[in-house]
Amino acid sequence: PARTRFAPSPTGFLHLGSMRTAIYNYLLARSTGGQFLLRLEDTDQRRLVKGAEDNIYRSLEWAGIEWDEGPLVGGPYGPYRQSDRAEIYKQYTARLLESRQAYRCFCSKERLNDLAESARHMYPPSTASYDRKCSHISKEESDDRAARGEPFIVRFKSPETFEPFVDLLHGELTINPQINQENIRYDDFTLVKSDGLPTYHMANVVDDHQMKISHVIRGEEWLPSTPKHIALYKALGWNEPSFVHIPLLTSSGGKKLSKRRSDQGILDFATEVLPEAFLNFVALLGWSPMRKNIGNKVSEVMTRDQIIKQFSLDHLTKGNVQVDMSKLHYFDQVHFKEQLKLPAKREQLVQGCCNAMKKAEFDVSQEETARMLDVLSKHVVGFQDFVDKVTVLLSEPARDSKPTVLDIEIIKAAIEKLQLSSAPMVDASEAKEVLALPFEKKHIFQSLRLGLLGSVAGSSIAEALQILPRNTSIKRLETAIC
Ligand code: GLU
Repeated sequence: PARTRFAPSPTGFLHLGSMRTAIYNYLLARSTGGQFLLRLEDTDQRRLVKGAEDNIYRSLEWAGIEWDEGPLVGGPYGPYRQSDRAEIYKQYTARLLESRQAYRCFCSKERLNDLAESARHMYPPSTASYDRKCSHISKEESDDRAARGEPFIVRFKSPETFEPFVDLLHGELTINPQINQENIRYDDFTLVKSDGLPTYHMANVVDDHQMKISHVIRGEEWLPSTPKHIALYKALGWNEPSFVHIPLLTSSGGKKLSKRRSDQGILDFATEVLPEAFLNFVALLGWSPMRKNIGNKVSEVMTRDQIIKQFSLDHLTKGNVQVDMSKLHYFDQVHFKEQLKLPAKREQLVQGCCNAMKKAEFDVSQEETARMLDVLSKHVVGFQDFVDKVTVLLSEPARDSKPTVLDIEIIKAAIEKLQLSSAPMVDASEAKEVLALPFEKKHIFQSLRLGLLGSVAGSSIAEALQILPRNTSIKRLETAIC
């Protein structure tokens, strides 16, 4: 069983890329009977964004990604917010300082800036920029200066070369941002910042070990960090977890995902599509279900349980992944139609349609939405489609000057029928009676459609009769013949 985690930094709203990371970690845990953790990596206090934490919780909840341990739910390895774990990191920093695998650096900002600047001009340019000046300070002097309150950061004393490592998707990789041989600069990255809080590298490694994480699935953008993390695991005497770096998302044209799409908050999708369709869509951004028989196309439309059952790391994609939003909308239609048949999903559909109506500035109640969804259920394929269909019915029909196929007798009979009741809405059996007036079927349909909707083609007339308030229908029919 895999123990995985999603470790977002609350520096903005959750978007598609990070959601996919969360979903793959969740799927690996669920498909192996393991646990999925949520951990907030908030040690970079300057980058925190108000509301981001709450947005992370709500986005995951909407998509049905439940965490077994983490904020709000707790767990045996908490706290799960890094800013609450400062004491734990201090302990391991002390251990690394003690064994001289880390050292305090008292260099001024100016000096460090100069070093970084000159490293940028080296050939090849190097991110290894520190000259290790402070690594030569004796332990006594270092302790003494720290005790006297001199500001410092803690640096990791990196190995001469970073070891090759195995990524479960990419195989063996060698990434060595390390020492610039000629100029003797080192990538002695920071473990503790001048504010006393750990960096991402330090906190991430300590927590993944402490929380007994077995697999780290994260985006390719973290690849350059991985050799550093592995060196840190070694220095602390720990085994590292398995790593899987998943490819970047690109737009359909193969270009970087557009700012608008990649920045779109997950909760914006919540008003557009079903969470099941979203999960289905995102799960396929870099993974494909196994084809049992070669050449036999497996259906890509899957429920959560089917995805969990099929998910495995063996079928992840290596190359960049194109995001095609039309596929999301296709999945949504299929899931929507499927869910209309399931009583257990009814509330979710009604709620979604009601939210979409409100977003379109229709003032409707939950009950009213439920009734309309029942009436339209044969044809509606999504939240927006529901709004569109209702909008067409409720907006004033555009009328041609005298349409020839309109039969005044039929309209009059229909008005009479509708006036027999004073209930505000027309129900299914009443609509059926109107359509069964003693005239030729074809003429009834044509005339009523023209009378109610102003056109011969389009919406089902039985549906229109039930969606429009009785008074509106009567008024429209009267207008049509006056
Ligand atoms: N806090 C990092 C992020 O925001 C986590 C990266 C990782 O999974 O190690 O994505």
